[in-house]
Amino acid sequence: MNNIESMERLIYAFTRLPGVGRKTAERYAYRVLELPDEDVTNFAKALVEAKSKVKFCTQCGNFTENDLCDICRTRHSDVICVVKEPKDIVAIEKSKNEGYLYHVLHGTISPMENRGPNDIRIKELIGRLDGIKEVILATNPDVEGEVTANYIAKLIKPLGVKVTRLATGIQMGSDLQYADEVTLTKALQDRKEM
Ligand SMILES: [Zn+2]
Repeated sequence: MNNIESMERLIYAFTRLPGVGRKTAERYAYRVLELPDEDVTNFAKALVEAKSKVKFCTQCGNFTENDLCDICRTRHSDVICVVKEPKDIVAIEKSKNEGYLYHVLHGTISPMENRGPNDIRIKELIGRLDGIKEVILATNPDVEGEVTANYIAKLIKPLGVKVTRLATGIQMGSDLQYADEVTLTKALQDRKEM
């Protein structure tokens, strides 16, 4: 863009977002110039504020602005649903479920990427099992998700907690967050004991 330095910086900033290539970033940058000053200021503020305020729930690992997330603070259940990332909670909350507690692993075990059980929040999960009757392993139905689910099942079953896995129906290799509501509801209802 005629080497206008500030515009180049803005375009580069947009290309940092998923699915935004150079062309789209340029379109966004032009649009920003057309917006009222107030909108642009609010946009910039919202970015900085979200980044500085949003952190992880100390108990379940979900996004929150507080020490504990809303679900941990208000919900009572003896079932914990274990997911890979906070986005998966949003997907499961949209399905018809019985109001589980959650536990976010923040990753999966991946020998390929040199990530072992100690690199994700498994210890924290084990520390939460007092009074819990069932753990639903809702990691993605891909290789890493299966490896992680099997590893956790082996750890937890001897502790006398029922361990279940989402029923198949969600396409193998796909991401939980892209499963539609009906499929996800069914996968939860038909979950199988491991
Ligand atoms: Zn929480």
